[in-house]
Amino acid sequence: GSSHFTTMAEPSSSSKRNAPRVPNLIGGRFLDSKASSFIDVINPATQEVVSQVPLTTDEEFKAAVSAAKKAFPLWRNTPVTTRQRVMLKLQELIRRDMDKLALNVTTEQGKTLKDAQGDVFRGLEVVEHACGMATLQMGEYVSNVSHGVDTYSVREPIGVCAGICPFNFPAMIPLWMFPMAVTCGNTFVLKPSEKDPGASIMLAELALEAGLPEGVLNVVHGTHDIVNAICDDDDIKAISFVGSNVAGMHIYSRAAAKGKRVQSNMGAKNHAIVMPDANVDATVNALIAAGFGAAGQRCMALSTVVFVGGSQPWESKILESAKALKVNAGTEPDADLGPVISKQAKERVHTLVQSGVESGAKLLLDGRNIVVPGYESGNFVGPTILSNITADMECYKEEIFGPVLLFMEADSLEEAINIINKNKYGNGASIFTTSGVAARKFQTEIEAGQVGINVPIPVPLPFFSFTGNKASFAGDLNFYGKAGVNFYTQIKTITQQWKEAVGGSKVNMAMPTS
Ligand code: NAD
Repeated sequence: GSSHFTTMAEPSSSSKRNAPRVPNLIGGRFLDSKASSFIDVINPATQEVVSQVPLTTDEEFKAAVSAAKKAFPLWRNTPVTTRQRVMLKLQELIRRDMDKLALNVTTEQGKTLKDAQGDVFRGLEVVEHACGMATLQMGEYVSNVSHGVDTYSVREPIGVCAGICPFNFPAMIPLWMFPMAVTCGNTFVLKPSEKDPGASIMLAELALEAGLPEGVLNVVHGTHDIVNAICDDDDIKAISFVGSNVAGMHIYSRAAAKGKRVQSNMGAKNHAIVMPDANVDATVNALIAAGFGAAGQRCMALSTVVFVGGSQPWESKILESAKALKVNAGTEPDADLGPVISKQAKERVHTLVQSGVESGAKLLLDGRNIVVPGYESGNFVGPTILSNITADMECYKEEIFGPVLLFMEADSLEEAINIINKNKYGNGASIFTTSGVAARKFQTEIEAGQVGINVPIPVPLPFFSFTGNKASFAGDLNFYGKAGVNFYTQIKTITQQWKEAVGGSKVNMAMPTS
């Protein structure tokens, strides 16, 4: 019965009355929440209510943490080879359900089906990487540091870890987190984005099907309150966060005050420098794909282009290419970009574009009044280009997170690098050039953590780490790769002595030396 449920708004359409409720996963069971408040998960292309996500109650949250705590002793002592085999199975199941997962991502998040497949696939690669955990977590050993004494270190899991996810990669980001964490021997509480929790639930189902024991992975839902509960809970030892700076810095400081380790991937303003000698077609294609792909809602989207020698020679080609892009619902086969996540997100993009115009930018292409036939109520923004951008403009200082490209100009590579280095963010930066000398100078002097040379979105594969810096990251240990293993483990260093006992030895009160 639903008598004890009250939704935030009265159901208005039949689709809403039938919208399924997103369950919690607690101790191996998918359970309907007893929450009194639910948030609508809305298809951004149609405004249909896909599902309703609960604000998981405090009691349910505590049950999830305690299930994770209870599962930890057995799971940490489960051989790493067994844990790896669960991941080996999980990657197979993700491949099996790739189309289903991608369709869910498109339905809840809006990106095109092909892009949604990429979202799942880049997460799948982290699962594949976790299959090699035995080697990744190997310790160190020095024999005979003193007579009969050896010292070695081992990496041990830390306990219950938690993950807090953003809306823009509903499959990839959860897969950056829990596969690495649990294969290291930890247990996990995942908090998906309240805007698109469906993929997390599907992935959790697959993890159970793959043989992950009950309680090792738990899923809870909500917004600020549950995030604060995660920060404050003494049984949670580490938090992985991906999202905006406001949330990320709040979580970083609140959780650190409780003694937790935190890795926090945050916002970005990624620049590309285009040198006059860059290959024209390849560079234009790269700028279009990285600027407008996923409707600009990637943390590694290229949102600002700095043209050394001026943008004029590039403008007509870029405009031609941008105008040819098809804006449509992500499920339509011809779509190049889908809607932005919400009406508020669309409003925000419009406001920032308008503020750019008012502060002197030139609107080369205006995608604000786009209407997509058949999807008139979708949150669509067409490709938009502003030129004559200066660093003091609001649209430059803020992360727009929409299909908007900003054009700036510089007289030299030196000046272009300075523009980028002055920006507070440091997620990614790229250069397009045929000069090795320019590329090498850029690589050396640029202050950004992920550098592309003729590559627009240099997101490293999982054997490296995701290494955004400056205001784009807080913490010491980045996501996945070696750093990810280090984040989800702590070092224990053992010193052992084995030698023949000799009679008549004396007490030595001094600090031991070799
Ligand atoms: P968001 O910060 O609004 O939400 C992220 C998570 O934090 C959600 O689970 C949300 O419920 C929670 N949250 C939001 N505000 C909170 C608050 N004040 N207190 C506590 N919890 C809060 O981010 P989003 O809009 O979902 O995602 C977009 C942002 O994520 C962009 O800034 C983008 O650049 C960033 N992002 C960064 C990376 C990266 O690796 N650096 C990757 C993807 C997205």
